[in-house]
Amino acid sequence: MDTNRTINFNYKLWAIILVAQFLLFYALSKFPGAINFFSKLFEWKKNVHTALFSAETISVGDLIYILLASGILILFLLSIIKRNKAYLKKILIALNIFYLVYQCSWGMLYFQPPIINHLKKRNIQNSEIEALTLQYLDTCRSQRALLREDSNGVFKVINYKAIQQEILNQQIRLPKTISNKKPVSILDVKSSLFGSLMSETGILGYYNPFTAEAQYNPDVPSTQLPFTIAHEMAHQLGFAREQEASFIGFLCAKQSASLELQYSANLYALKSLIRAIAMTDEAFAKHIIQSYSEPMKRDRAYEVRFGKKHSGMISDFFGVTNDLFLKSNQQDGSITYSYFVNLLILYHE
Ligand SMILES: [Zn+2]
Repeated sequence: MDTNRTINFNYKLWAIILVAQFLLFYALSKFPGAINFFSKLFEWKKNVHTALFSAETISVGDLIYILLASGILILFLLSIIKRNKAYLKKILIALNIFYLVYQCSWGMLYFQPPIINHLKKRNIQNSEIEALTLQYLDTCRSQRALLREDSNGVFKVINYKAIQQEILNQQIRLPKTISNKKPVSILDVKSSLFGSLMSETGILGYYNPFTAEAQYNPDVPSTQLPFTIAHEMAHQLGFAREQEASFIGFLCAKQSASLELQYSANLYALKSLIRAIAMTDEAFAKHIIQSYSEPMKRDRAYEVRFGKKHSGMISDFFGVTNDLFLKSNQQDGSITYSYFVNLLILYHE
């Protein structure tokens, strides 16, 4: 009777500690000093953390996720079968540790001052987006003509290791006005163990905050994969926000010597611009897509086929959800372009 009461108390205590952690980190996210501390902590541990599992060819982070998920599931089932709260206590302890490590090593970085603070903010005109779209269309058309294809005439990257190394080299040369982060000196980019699952959900890659590994889905089309890797590697530098990681990945690709990397990033920029244009001028957006070169059209058709084959969750330009989003955006008369497009336009000044 007494031990039961102790277990009950213990398990409630760990639940309370977890809630207290949520509140604590929420409160800390409001203090610039605290955010700065976690940014500094990340900088300090970055190289060691990245080196830690870089020698393993297999993704250690994915193994940890699998073990953790199955461990929690087993404990949960045991708690039901044996009607014993001691198992729930173990789950709560694991969640507490998991959450604490996550927030200290990554979560707080989402509250860092945004990159846009380093650029001169102003209103963006539609005409600017149109002009930049045409410019990127032109660049993509001419770059694509020089690239390798597979037997179906679709763009194909052979050597991903070289691209990863190139991104690492370019991270050192990021403009100091935009990034004051220390470069990572070790390559730690791995193919995910959840490749097919990722294809089904449209996930191209992710960063593992526990092992600092940059993960990618190896099945993704060559048009998207080099840029995806640049994006995940930007997370390794300490850029947590999605659109900022894309922007940093884009900058690395932009100044790179690898044409494959450049094309993949320029195509991403082009698609983002088309999506922005589609908000106000769908006809112009469609016209741009129709003006793709023949090889670019084959690449796009391959991306669409890949998306459709895998439940079609990889968003198409004019998908229903996107369309609804755009319409709701236009209703209030003001248009908010994606943060990436904002950064891109301001950077081009
Ligand atoms: Zn990301």
